[in-house]
Amino acid sequence: MSSHATKHRPELDVVVVGAGFGGLYALHRLRGLGLKVRVFEAGDGVGGTWYWNRYPGCRCDIESLEYSYSFSPELEQEWNWTERYASQPEILSYLNHVADRFDLRRDIQLGTRVEAAVFDEISGCWNIRTGDGEGVTARWVVMATGCLSAPNTPPFPGQESFEGPIYHTGRWPHEGVDFSGRRVAVIGTGSSAIQAIPIIAEQAEHLHVLQRTATYTVPARNRPLDPAEQARVKAMYPAFRDGARQQLAAAYFHSREQSALEASPEERRRVYDERWDRGGSGFGGSFSDLLLNPEANATAADYVRSRISEIVRDPETAERLKPSQVFACKRLCFDTGYYDTFNRPNVTLVDVRADPIEALTPRGLRTGGREIEVDSIVFATGFDAMTGALSRIDIRGRGGQALRDAWAEGPRAYLGLMTAGFPNLFLLTGPGSPSVLTNMVMSIEQHVDFIAGCLEALASDGADLIEASRRAQDAWIEHVNAVADSTLYPRCNSWYLGANVAGKPRVFMPYLGFPGYVARCREVVENGYQGFERSRAGALPQPA
Ligand code: NAP
Repeated sequence: MSSHATKHRPELDVVVVGAGFGGLYALHRLRGLGLKVRVFEAGDGVGGTWYWNRYPGCRCDIESLEYSYSFSPELEQEWNWTERYASQPEILSYLNHVADRFDLRRDIQLGTRVEAAVFDEISGCWNIRTGDGEGVTARWVVMATGCLSAPNTPPFPGQESFEGPIYHTGRWPHEGVDFSGRRVAVIGTGSSAIQAIPIIAEQAEHLHVLQRTATYTVPARNRPLDPAEQARVKAMYPAFRDGARQQLAAAYFHSREQSALEASPEERRRVYDERWDRGGSGFGGSFSDLLLNPEANATAADYVRSRISEIVRDPETAERLKPSQVFACKRLCFDTGYYDTFNRPNVTLVDVRADPIEALTPRGLRTGGREIEVDSIVFATGFDAMTGALSRIDIRGRGGQALRDAWAEGPRAYLGLMTAGFPNLFLLTGPGSPSVLTNMVMSIEQHVDFIAGCLEALASDGADLIEASRRAQDAWIEHVNAVADSTLYPRCNSWYLGANVAGKPRVFMPYLGFPGYVARCREVVENGYQGFERSRAGALPQPA
């Protein structure tokens, strides 16, 4: 595919923002179409999430053989994973290997943050401005900025007064942190905290875990990957991947068809025991209606609570660790020794729901009028998910409209791919797409392939611009909400709803169901990019 010949020829065909799983594959795939592509990456290395999140214990909770690219059979065969769940360093080396193997680095500009992307209606080009004050023009922009990349740092009063170091799990120092002999506070008990707490507890003199909402977590049971198992999967990788793509989450959660309420209490217990012992995400697939029916959900919640009582020796601590919200409504966590950690004499659980953090002080934090003295504080407070990375860039579409304003009442995107009024701006795994409810790598590949197909179709039509129609976008968002409302997901204050960030509109952002979504995208393409509008630069858009 050759570059578009228009009277306003931009310097680049495509600017990709971000060099994580999404950006790297976008570069490879779009360069393969003969397009001139440049990736801007704020970090000093490739890897995205896996570059920034280096906190102790960080690993993926989708199995390694699944959480990897499928676009290259050679890559699939030559890379060997060492553990059931890959650690952050291993995933980062994999992504560095990918960058080298596909000669990606020559088109990646590291240490460069994109500050603004402004659409010029006359030329039909995007003007991209980076932090170093440089500017570049491109026909298309692909935002591969990640769903969980903009850290959420609650503004506690007195933060500047704290005399020790403050860390955020999503911005961990590259040289690592040694907590030996230190008194440490971890704020938060989500996935990141659950992984870090057992390791920090082993090092620290004393660890205070500041819990606002108790979390459901099941054992990960990570283990070295059996070479025979790896060889078996490699021998049938295409079929293995196809099978994963048929799953709701594009990953094998080994979901059972049976309702939790059809099973007898003994049978339920047997299923939950089996899955608890096997470890990992299969626990969430124990029964078909856990996220559909409150009564079914309560059986899983009760089971986890009973396990907490068995593990945690101090009954008061055990009670406080027991979650009360809908099971798996916030993302289910997978741990290695999390509940056991509270049996250590150097670990204290602090309930900051009852006594919220009032302030940081020079020597620690204050909750419930009491000061807890610590030497270091870890913010495991999560991310401004799905929209945060985009809203931190000044993105302006037709008529100079800011994306921040267009999304003031919640993100609006057709298929999670494009937003009306922002031509040629593609979102990778954007709000309204399955994204964070799936194996992200599968979702990324599907989106990049969709975008590549779309650019090829445009080239053969001689159109310069493509954008979402407002009508199709409205209908899609209604559908995304209707699907979410048919489940228990909207019943808790999760980051899926933006509820973890003060002032963020409460809108369920991801789309549930990978196979249905893929079928819908296929239909859209077969119907000539139904719901998208194409035009030539300087002219009004026409329905596809
Ligand atoms: P998170 O799940 O959003 O957890 C943030 C934690 O900080 C929550 O416990 C939250 O409490 C607490 N918090 C936030 N503001 C607070 C405040 N002002 N006072 C007290 N507590 C506060 O963030 P995360 O753990 O970084 O995980 C985010 C997502 O990243 C995960 O859900 C997952 O998708 C992904 N992730 C995956 C893995 C993996 O693959 N294993 C590992 C890490 C992260 P509330 O619940 O009360 O808001």
